[in-house]
Amino acid sequence: MNPCIVVHGGAGGIDDGRVPAARAGCAAAVRAGLEVLAGGGGALDAVQAAVRVLEDDPEFNAGVGSALTRDGTVEVDAGIMDGATLRIGAIGAVEDLRRPIDLAREVLEDGEHVLLVGNAAWAFARERGYTPAPPTALITERALLRLEAERTRRAAAAAAAGPPRLREGGTVGACAIDAAGHVAAATSTGGITYKRRGRVGDTPLPGCGTWADDLGGAASATGHGESIIRVTLTRAVVDRLRAGMRAQDAARAGIEDLTARVRGEGGVICVDARGEIGIAHSTARMPWASASLAAPEPRTGVTAP
Ligand code: ASP
Repeated sequence: MNPCIVVHGGAGGIDDGRVPAARAGCAAAVRAGLEVLAGGGGALDAVQAAVRVLEDDPEFNAGVGSALTRDGTVEVDAGIMDGATLRIGAIGAVEDLRRPIDLAREVLEDGEHVLLVGNAAWAFARERGYTPAPPTALITERALLRLEAERTRRAAAAAAAGPPRLREGGTVGACAIDAAGHVAAATSTGGITYKRRGRVGDTPLPGCGTWADDLGGAASATGHGESIIRVTLTRAVVDRLRAGMRAQDAARAGIEDLTARVRGEGGVICVDARGEIGIAHSTARMPWASASLAAPEPRTGVTAP
């Protein structure tokens, strides 16, 4: 087995000017995950390490730089899954949380529940020594501008009649396979700009934004969450892997379904049980990076290879 990792930085339409930073951010995340794998660490630790790097990077819509609710607040979602044991940890609609993926991992390790939301997630977090980030610490200038732009767009009568458009992505995710052949997936997001408070998207929902099963592989999704939930995108991709489909074909088929069945926009990455990766998206762009122990220099792109 050649341990490998693939990450995404969200399906959307990022400007040309931000492409270098998005590629560099994804490469840094892949390096962090690969370091874990190179040290003999497991896939679960590798995807957590990779997502943590992306949460700290204000370029992305996760942790610092999260999309804002219509009240101008930050509420994050995150999920992490271990393909060896099918253990899952997830959190939804949690305010002012600096390290969403770490708290999701705590839920996984605790094992009593799969998904904790809102204030209840904070009660659990406090028991483990977490403290809330200062109210504006996670809010970037770009997130504020995006909220303002969305408010304006919705106020325009013509636009108000149409469905919400996915304007910009930035959700982050990672999939990995380790030397023992175990797979894992992790995904973290601020959600979609102008969401209602309390809205939980696909990211923390098992089989929607995040899924991993050693019998098939691991997948992490991004895009319009309500659409992704309707087609349980990551479960659908991993089930195709389990049935023997090649990783790239499974990713592409998942996105084709998302378009055909619910006219959803999004992207997905996956790794199969042989260590092959798949990357697909229906949006203009989706930053990604991948590397393996045999080829450790990250490959990066903003469209599927
Ligand atoms: N899937 C995320 C959500 O709906 C957003 C994104 O990936 O851009 O919460």
